[in-house]
Amino acid sequence: MKHKIVTIVFILALILTGILYYNHANLIIILTIILVIYLALTALGSYQIKLNYYITSLNKTNSDSIALTFDDGPDPATTPQILEILKLANLKATFFVIGKNAEKYPELIKAISADGHTIGNHSYSHSAGIGLFSRQKLVNDVNQCTDTIEKVTGVKPVLFRPPFGVTNPRYAYLLQTTGLKSIGWSIRSYDTTIENEKKLYNRITSQLKAGSIVLLHDTSTTTIRMLPALINYCNQNNLPVKPINELTEQ
Ligand SMILES: [Zn+2]
Repeated sequence: MKHKIVTIVFILALILTGILYYNHANLIIILTIILVIYLALTALGSYQIKLNYYITSLNKTNSDSIALTFDDGPDPATTPQILEILKLANLKATFFVIGKNAEKYPELIKAISADGHTIGNHSYSHSAGIGLFSRQKLVNDVNQCTDTIEKVTGVKPVLFRPPFGVTNPRYAYLLQTTGLKSIGWSIRSYDTTIENEKKLYNRITSQLKAGSIVLLHDTSTTTIRMLPALINYCNQNNLPVKPINELTEQ
């Protein structure tokens, strides 16, 4: 893991600086600069799943296809509309569902599964404080989501997306313990904040290429308005849309 290498380099830098500059007037300033750099790298590594800093995630595939991924559902107000658009286009996607939503709306989980989409684990609570969970609390939370999905569909999810894309060393323990495979993304759409569908479309299509994994949310009404145009773009540019598990098995 990259964070282990960075930590070792950090400790060596501290020791070397201490030895070389132990009598220097600016020793504290130099040590502080090293510490700030280390903390900045740690924060960047936590928030940028693409860096594979704490865990290794699949952030793009080697296929000629793309994957559309929908997080944070199911939601009775929006998920059925996403399913309808995908069904009309005869496309299969990947849904990273929140366990507590799945528990509340099992009929939507059944509908996603019946339509042939892949269902992944996006934690049970999707708690804003999940980054501070102890490793056992994190494992319990994620396992609760797995159990909920399995109870409804009869299928145990194998894919996992860390909530907010934030990771830390506890996630390495989580993946090791549960056997789940972490899925990141190559394109973050920001569809929960962008309200203009044309802007969202441009943001995604300007980066889209073979192997892309696109992060969307089936809770976003902007995505509902934008999705048919995105699917058209994929068709016109010979970019087949497939669920992630099909792309990794190739
Ligand atoms: Zn999420």
